[in-house]
Amino acid sequence: MSVYRRLLKLLWPYRRRVALAVLLGVATIVANTGLLATAAYLLSAAALVRLLIGLTGAVFLVRLFGLSRAFLRYGERLVSHGVTFRLLAQVRSWTYGRIEPLAPGGLAGQRSGDLLSRIVKDVDELEHLFQHVVGPLAVAALTVACAVGVLLVFGTAPALVALAFLLTAGVGLPLLSGLLARGRGRGQVAARAALDAQLVDGVQGIVDLLALDRGEDLLRETGALGARLGSEQRRASLVTGLHLGLGELLAHLAMVAAVLAAIPLVGSGRIAGVYLAAIGLLVLGTFEAVQPLGRAFQFLGRTGAAGERLYELAELRPSVTDPPDPIPAPDLPLLEFDHVSFAYESGEPPALDEVTFALVPGARLAIVGPSGAGKSTVAALAARFWDPAEGEVRLGGHDVRRYAQEDLRSRLAVVTQDAHLFNNTIRANLLVGRPGATETDLAEVLERARLTELVASLPEGLDTWIGEHGLRLSGGERQRLAIARALLKDAPLLILDEVTANLDPIVEAEVLAGIHDLMAGRTTLVITHRLVYLDDVDEVLVLDHGRIVERGTVASLSAAGGTFRRLLDAQNQYLTLV
Ligand code: ADP
Repeated sequence: MSVYRRLLKLLWPYRRRVALAVLLGVATIVANTGLLATAAYLLSAAALVRLLIGLTGAVFLVRLFGLSRAFLRYGERLVSHGVTFRLLAQVRSWTYGRIEPLAPGGLAGQRSGDLLSRIVKDVDELEHLFQHVVGPLAVAALTVACAVGVLLVFGTAPALVALAFLLTAGVGLPLLSGLLARGRGRGQVAARAALDAQLVDGVQGIVDLLALDRGEDLLRETGALGARLGSEQRRASLVTGLHLGLGELLAHLAMVAAVLAAIPLVGSGRIAGVYLAAIGLLVLGTFEAVQPLGRAFQFLGRTGAAGERLYELAELRPSVTDPPDPIPAPDLPLLEFDHVSFAYESGEPPALDEVTFALVPGARLAIVGPSGAGKSTVAALAARFWDPAEGEVRLGGHDVRRYAQEDLRSRLAVVTQDAHLFNNTIRANLLVGRPGATETDLAEVLERARLTELVASLPEGLDTWIGEHGLRLSGGERQRLAIARALLKDAPLLILDEVTANLDPIVEAEVLAGIHDLMAGRTTLVITHRLVYLDDVDEVLVLDHGRIVERGTVASLSAAGGTFRRLLDAQNQYLTLV
């Protein structure tokens, strides 16, 4: 129940528009019913009176109802859609706002397709909240009250008969449908989410799946999920069909029953016989208000399920949170790790074990070691994507937990081997680094990242779209664009995480030329498992299984004959082979 209360609260900011939409909805049905009832009265009266002049009032009402219902319906649609789209925009930004602080730690257990489904499908499902649930319920309650009020003027019997039928169609029938369709709403949302997650995963990995000859399996699994969704939808349609048929039947039975209940009143002279047809059609017309209630109950299940999935996001806790009273991040980036230990999952072997080092402003520190040694984890902890289990990561002498995350991250620029490039223009990708950058700034970083020539050769220059993940660029160009973006950010502490890992030696040399510019005058942490181009660094830490096993200058470590020397020899051997 609480999910519905929370969903209703979403409508509160739009209460005036909601009230207007409901009033217009009631007025539309009143106009429709009024048209039917007055026309019925007019026809009956015309057969009895000699001079039609006495019916001018009724003729006027027929015209009024006939014309106004179109305008009223238009107005009602306009206002209720306005409410819906405003609501969706609000929920969409709320959802994204919930997801953003979760990255990366809090999202570890989520599939990206599932997240996409929550942002797109579950939010869209809330489209029905007002349009098909709250609106119809309010309109039905008010319209039935109006109709019963009017019928009471004629007599209690037809009013009670009509009320009984309206309640059966408006409440009893939806309850019956709800019983028949129990769990279908949740089942449909879950089946669709599973299919979406599977499709996004499958499309993202399509090349690998085909290469591994798993294409058929993917088709089979997707087919099975599609069939599950189809069967959920079929069962829901069966219930809808049954509901609509019974609804029509009840409406017509109600019309006959109300007329039968009114006949004795004519007999006793309480009402004129000319009103009989009007009473019947008034009852029939009022059913327009209760007929959408079946769908309202179905959508109630679906919006509830979608709401629950969205609110689950609110329950997920980010792996790091801002302190209540953050201090401003320092300009001079002294980075210290003080006996830092950290494991991604409790019970797993630690990714970092008692790591201690200091990177003083202006210095260059390299962290080397085999794959999986914990090097990238150092970068992740410095940027505070995670908090250490033990020890302290400090920037400018204070624990990084004392700064607001945004402020802390404004002091560092991180370039990784797979920096994400957005499916947008070169300009937009650069501006992610510094949104307010000028054309001159852009030209300067392009020059320093050795990209000027490339951009000049493109027909649309900086406004060229680079495709998904920057696929229209080569690997080296992508890395240089990431470097240009970091240059634009102009942060005092630079973290280069395996920047050239995926590049061939010639492109690597080109990219490194850009990096040297980037490093000039900046405090730099270089993370690499390749031991080339380490000439400029002041100190090297060798990491293995999360522990620092050696530290010193390149020269001292090369001479020492330990792990560094062995890594160096192995690499030189490999380079001679190629
Ligand atoms: P390196 O950068 O030296 O290759 P990493 O710091 O990436 O090493 O990884 C260190 C260890 O932590 C590895 O055993 C790796 O499998 C694990 N690890 C890295 N990232 C995650 C993550 N997001 N969740 C769980 N384990 C992780």
